[in-house]
Parts: sequence; C-alpha cells; structure tokens
Amino acid sequence: MWYIDTLQKYKPKTFKTHFVVFGTGYYDYREPLKAEIPELGRFKGSLIHHQFWPEDLNYTSKTIVVIGSGETAITVIPKLAEVATKFARFLSLLSQVPRLGSANDSSHHNVATTRSHLIRSAQPWDQRLCICPDGVLFTSLRSGNVEIKTNTSESITESSIRLKSGDFLAAGIIATATGLKIQFAGGIRILVDGREFFLNENFILKEMMMQNLPNVTLVIGYTNISWTLGADVTGILLCRILKHLNKRGGAAVVPRVPKSIHLEKRRMLELNSTCVSKAGNDLPKTAQRWPWQLRNNYLLGIIHAMYGRVDEFLDVIV
Ligand SMILES: Cc1cc2nc3c(=O)[nH]c(=O)nc-3n(C[C@H](O)[C@H](O)[C@H](O)COP(=O)(O)OP(=O)(O)OC[C@H]3O[C@@H](n4cnc5c(N)ncnc54)[C@H](O)[C@@H]3O)c2cc1C
Repeated sequence: MWYIDTLQKYKPKTFKTHFVVFGTGYYDYREPLKAEIPELGRFKGSLIHHQFWPEDLNYTSKTIVVIGSGETAITVIPKLAEVATKFARFLSLLSQVPRLGSANDSSHHNVATTRSHLIRSAQPWDQRLCICPDGVLFTSLRSGNVEIKTNTSESITESSIRLKSGDFLAAGIIATATGLKIQFAGGIRILVDGREFFLNENFILKEMMMQNLPNVTLVIGYTNISWTLGADVTGILLCRILKHLNKRGGAAVVPRVPKSIHLEKRRMLELNSTCVSKAGNDLPKTAQRWPWQLRNNYLLGIIHAMYGRVDEFLDVIV
C-alpha cells in the first residue's frame, strides 16, 4: 500500500492507494533552470523566466528581448508579436545554445542574417524539433515587430544587452526562454519500507516502471516526436499490466533485474539541449538494451504495449 503525504499549507493530508501513476511531467515546477547569462542581475527592467510568466505583465510601449531558441521561444514569440501589432514593438533575440561538448563556453549564449539565424548549431535529433504550426514564427518576423539577432551576449547593463559584436539591444523586459529544469516524479521523495528510493540508482523497465519500485508507473514521453504519444503508450501498457496483476491475484507488481543480466548505464535522454545536459546524473537509469532502455520509437512502443509480453521482468507479489 502506498501512502501519499501532501504538503498543504494548513491541512496536510495522507492518501492511501495500491498503485501510483506519476503524471508529473518532466520538469521542476518549483525551480526554473537558471539562465547563465553574465551580469543578468544588473538589469533594472522586468526580468522574466518563461516558466513563471506574470499574468499581469504590462507590455505597453516595452521592448521585449526573448533569449532562447528552443520550443519556448518559438512558442512565445509569435504570441507576443500578435499583441505587439496593437501596443508595442518587440525585439526578440534568438540565441543558439551551444551543442554539448562544443568548444564554446556554455555560460555564454551564442547569439550568430535571416537564413543563418534559422540554422541551429544542433542537428535535428540532438535537440527537440521546434515546429511552429502555419509558420506563425515567419508571419511574425514579416510583420516587422520581431527581429532576430544571433550573437553572444557579452554583458547586461541596466537597460540593455551588450552583444560581442559591440551592438546594444535596448530592453524594457528580458524574457529568458532558456530552458526548464528537468525532474522526474515531481521531485517527490519516495520511501519504500522506510528506505529512500532514488530514481537515479534504478533502471527503467519498458519506459514506464522502475526497478525495485512496486506498483508505480512514470509517464514518460518521446523526445523525437510528440511527447504525449508516449503517455498513450504508457496508459495502454499499464492497463494490460494491471489486468495481468488481477488475473494472477497479486497485490503488487515489481520490476526486477535478474542477476544473470548485466546492464550498462546509458544516458536516459539522448538530447544535447542545455536542460538535458544539466540534469546529468539526476535522471532515472536506462541501459543499452530493451526493455531497460528508452527506444524513442512510437511504432515499436504501441505494438509492444498492445501485443507484447507483460510479465517479463515483473515479479507479482501475492
Ligand atoms: C514551450 C513548450 C512547448 C511544448 N510543445 C509540445 C508539443 O508541441 N508537443 C508535445 O507533445 N509536447 C510539448 N511540450 C512538452 C509538454 O510539456 C508535454 O508534452 C506535456 O505537457 C506533458 O504532459 P504531462 O501531463 O506528462 O506533464 P505536465 O504537463 O508537465 O504536467 C505535470 C503536472 O504535474 C504536476 N506536478 C508536478 N510535480 C508535482 C508534485 N510534486 N505534486 C503535485 N503535482 C505535481 C504539475 O503541477 C503539472 O500539473 C512542450 C513543452 C514546452 C515547455
């Protein structure tokens, strides 16, 4: 039986359940990934991290510099530009985050005319592909309210960003769209029979359960296509596992790595984006072989979830 203690400010509660499904996403909801931009603290305008975007933010007559070139920047900029046509003029700076292992100093943001701005330093499957439906990013670029700069931010002044090229970008608002802090299982402390369970010390089975962790599923998605397709696959497989458990009359199901198998640890997410590289060793362990690896393959995933074996490497505890 699992006991889930909630942290409510005045009335903490404990819930009892047989099975826990972590639908807690893949990033830290409390702490953002800190943008490593030198002297950012000197800026006297509004400094915003996209994860905690203030609903009452007043853009009127403000110039916004959006720092980042990932999915957040691509999502946020066209939206800002819609408002800009009515109220203000925006300047967006898309900086290219260096590839992992490149000689570039990762504490600087490589900010590099329109073609060269839109060619990223990363290869398509190094980072998640940014898809903007109906080309809305290009519509906003053509509107004249959005401008891209690709260069390195050298320093921040009270009201601007100084680029390595010597140019200054005046800014009333700086929005750092520089990534999220990756975290699985919502940062929840897990205790099994009184002992703390660490995700990064155990392997993931079939992209959804953890070795030695009974009756728990993590909803993990794909990084090379829509993340949420992985949630569909997890849901289907989970239902089959629960049916298997019922059929066997068991109380719990727990993934075990047999002693006869040697698993080599591999990186969980094969992406070179800043947030993934910074997550480092905090992520759950994955191995070099199925079913202890993330295959990032929707077709294989859905076929396995619907028709594959459900009992392998799973101990049923009666
Ligand atoms: C800018 C941006 C664009 C994206 N675009 C796409 C896209 O086009 N397609 C796509 O598939 N994916 C996209 N993603 C990824 C997207 O985040 C996920 O696909 C989707 O949100 C995952 O859903 P989820 O329910 O697993 O997790 P989330 O949406 O992250 O939901 C997790 C929930 O768990 C809660 N939670 C976390 N920790 C705790 C805790 N300790 N206690 C209680 N509650 C907790 C959170 O409050 C939240 O409500 C994008 C992400 C970003 C940032």
